[in-house]
Amino acid sequence: MYEMKKILITGAAGFLGSHLCDRFIKEGYYVIAMDNLITGDLRNIEHLFKLENFEFYHHDVTKFVNVPGKLDYILHFASPASPIDYLKIPIQTLKVGALGTHNLLGLAKVKNARILIASTSEIYGDPLVHPQTEEYYGNVNTIGPRGVYDEAKRFMESITMAYNRFHGLETRIVRIFNTYGPRMRLNDGRVIPAFIGQALRGEDLTVFGDGSQTRSFCYVDDEVEGIYRLLLSDYDMPVNIGNPHEITIKDFAEEIVKLTGTDQKVIYKPLPQDDPMQRQPDITKAKEILGWEPKVSRAEGMKKTYEYFKSLPEDELYKKEHKDFKDYNRI
Ligand code: NAD
Ligand code: UDP
Repeated sequence: MYEMKKILITGAAGFLGSHLCDRFIKEGYYVIAMDNLITGDLRNIEHLFKLENFEFYHHDVTKFVNVPGKLDYILHFASPASPIDYLKIPIQTLKVGALGTHNLLGLAKVKNARILIASTSEIYGDPLVHPQTEEYYGNVNTIGPRGVYDEAKRFMESITMAYNRFHGLETRIVRIFNTYGPRMRLNDGRVIPAFIGQALRGEDLTVFGDGSQTRSFCYVDDEVEGIYRLLLSDYDMPVNIGNPHEITIKDFAEEIVKLTGTDQKVIYKPLPQDDPMQRQPDITKAKEILGWEPKVSRAEGMKKTYEYFKSLPEDELYKKEHKDFKDYNRI
């Protein structure tokens, strides 16, 4: 009898995790979604609750993780991802990257499942090599405020490779570059929700520093396609998945002003500590190994993203905080 492939997705109620749930459901998988909702939102996956091949576990992956029965794949995406979030919950960020990854590798080992972990361009820190290739070791300030995220992700890659080499576990590592799209949280502080939120509220757009720092933004559908291909490939070294189309933050703010038709100004605020000055993925490996490259232009992706934020209830626009993180920092 045909048996559905079973996949566990952690961080499933978040932005990327929820899109991955949709994709694997579409591909005919049985999806087990896991999340402690610290930065995620059940509304991102509520449309899946009625399906027979979908279940949700409300669970913190820094605690022992188990799921009954067989498991073919694990996607480990649980982690705060925006600088504002991980500065507010630094210990949880370190724990989910370190203890959470350890738990999921252990689960993958007992289930004989293949595991893909969500790493990040942030492991390159404030890069001195441009664009960033997978061979670059990075330039990270271990003790700076962003260190909690960067070092957790670097540890995550190391322990994953240790399980690969020592236990022969099937592992995949994706280094995700700035990805955007519907279901990002309006108040998570990342630049796209920040600028669009400001435009919709009629506030000035806040560029940090002089805006000469660069980023390269990838639309979520492209990112998900790259992750999907990497999981199913037989390549176990890290792969950059991102859109190489680079732009300065200042020019990007001007693009948002045009897109939203706001007549607000662009104003300048201090640059946060260790904010990377440049970021652009070298995607040669993804092209060669996965036959993947992004298809959605920034104009098209930003239009869809703007439509999404515009469609949210108006009170969402004025919510300052996602939730009180105090309780999470105690555990
Ligand atoms: P997100 O905050 O929307 O999603 C993260 C999810 O993980 C949330 O639903 C949160 O509640 C959950 N979570 C956090 N800690 C948990 C724990 N201990 N146990 C269970 N669930 C937990 O962020 P995102 O943008 O969707 O990022 C998802 C993953 O992709 C993260 O690992 C992030 O580091 C990585 N990533 C994202 C980007 C990007 O541009 N979006 C770039 C690089 C890497
Ligand atoms: N940024 C900005 N104004 C904002 C929010 C962010 O100018 O209101 C800048 C931020 O300093 C950084 C870039 O936009 O240089 C991308 O920030 P984000 O938090 O989205 O991601 P990351 O720094 O992790 O790439």
